[in-house]
Amino acid sequence: MYGAIEAGGTKFVCAVADDTLKIIDSVSIPTRTPAETLADVFQFFDQYELTAMGIGSFGPIGIDPKKDSYGYVLATPKPGWSEYDFLGNMKAHYNIPIAWTTDVNAAAYGELKQGAAQGKDSCIYLTVGTGIGGGVVINGEIFSGISHPEMGHIRVKRATEDTYVGTCPYHKDCLEGLAAGPSLEARTGIKGQELPQDHPIWELQAYYIAQALMNYTLTLAPEVIVLGGGVMNQDHLLHKIRQQFVEQMAGYMETPEASEYIVRWGLPNKSGVIGCLLLAKEA
Ligand code: ADP
Ligand code: ZN
Repeated sequence: MYGAIEAGGTKFVCAVADDTLKIIDSVSIPTRTPAETLADVFQFFDQYELTAMGIGSFGPIGIDPKKDSYGYVLATPKPGWSEYDFLGNMKAHYNIPIAWTTDVNAAAYGELKQGAAQGKDSCIYLTVGTGIGGGVVINGEIFSGISHPEMGHIRVKRATEDTYVGTCPYHKDCLEGLAAGPSLEARTGIKGQELPQDHPIWELQAYYIAQALMNYTLTLAPEVIVLGGGVMNQDHLLHKIRQQFVEQMAGYMETPEASEYIVRWGLPNKSGVIGCLLLAKEA
């Protein structure tokens, strides 16, 4: 049996799967302090005989096995989690191979192997939810350099009419600060899921996300970009992003049709867990 944890800032989704990666059992645990959260995680997985596990964690996290920070959650405003040895505490409880990456890297990997990027060798997965984060797969493998990419915190060009200060606690008006889910409510006083389709905010939202996709395309030229997260439940937004992307690229670089290049996740709310299971099996 394989175990998977998609460790998010609001909830941990834990799953157990058989050898064919069919999910047998899963549970959603609210994220509290590390001790409280892991107690529930152990309780769930202790019911099973696991051979390996995959963890996709909210970040930033230490991913370089040569560094002391490997397996740690790094600078995060979430109480108790900053500088927490997440992987070390898991390994102390389960003496099995444990694959360790970011939640969005796991999702990118899941989408490449079984979702919207199936059959490709490279993809970017971008989630637009409470935060914005991106994972990168190149040549069939999760990319990492000095760290994992932090694609949500890039700079984008502010729209001239936009005076909103931005929600990012570190940079204020980075992409996440200007375009993650909470910015929709902060700008309009209405939750993203309740905003009408014809609200002008959606054009602004598309303007920022399209800029980000242009930057990623010019930098990495992936075969496909997969979009997920709560905000991307808006069908019309996907359409607006594609339009703006084509407009902003201005024909500079040959890319596939926008409708094939910028796609919605193929494994809604499951890309991360499936990616973790695949990584567990490989571990
Ligand atoms: P998380 O990022 O915490 O895992 P989600 O991906 O569901 O969770 O993102 C939550 C954010 O997305 C919130 O800011 C919420 O208001 C927004 N959101 C959720 N559903 C929608 C929707 N259908 N349309 C627009 N925004 C949404
Ligand atoms: Zn930021």
